Amino acid sequence: MEIESGGRKYSYSDTLLDSEEGQVIEAFRAANQQPYPDPAGWLDAEALPANVLLTTVDRVINWSRYRALWPVAFGLACCAIEMMCTAASRFDIARFGMEVFRASPRQADLLIIAGTLSWKMAPWLRRVYDQMPEPKWVLAMGACGTSGGIFKGSYSVVPGFNLVLPVDVYVPGCPPRPEALLDACIKIHEKIQKDRIVRKGGSQ
Ligand code: SF4
Repeated sequence: MEIESGGRKYSYSDTLLDSEEGQVIEAFRAANQQPYPDPAGWLDAEALPANVLLTTVDRVINWSRYRALWPVAFGLACCAIEMMCTAASRFDIARFGMEVFRASPRQADLLIIAGTLSWKMAPWLRRVYDQMPEPKWVLAMGACGTSGGIFKGSYSVVPGFNLVLPVDVYVPGCPPRPEALLDACIKIHEKIQKDRIVRKGGSQ
């Protein structure tokens, strides 16, 4: 075989090239006859118990759910100002992994209804709830959500959100302070942690 490089010609014997290549392969093969040690070998018998965690499927699923609740905000009146404050730096709802307020109900699993619900608005609240995927939870904020609050008896105000949809936790107050809303969020967390998914054969 002839190879031209830099204006010069070099001649090689095919047999010689094959032989040299064979020697390289044989040397590599000879040097790789022992398997590499298992990278998990450091997990000796003593360290193993400290690195194994036993739990249940329910706990793992519930943990992932309550640690990443994504609220859809439904601010209707004065209570919504306190809800916004809860998401700001002083009260910092991000501490609970809940700062991702979604504009779309399809990306949310917690509906925080903050304010006075009129019968005119009620069908649209119900629509937002219906558009949320399962499992989902509802938090009613303020006296208006519990009973209509100071508007109870008004022809136009829904006297309690539970006439329109199922409510998981009520937050009393007019308006409730941000700490009360955070406390209600923790109540929702506790409720989620008690959910039995496997035994029930599927959640909710
Ligand atoms: S509960 Fe009070 S603060 Fe909240 S929306 Fe009703 S009237 Fe406003």
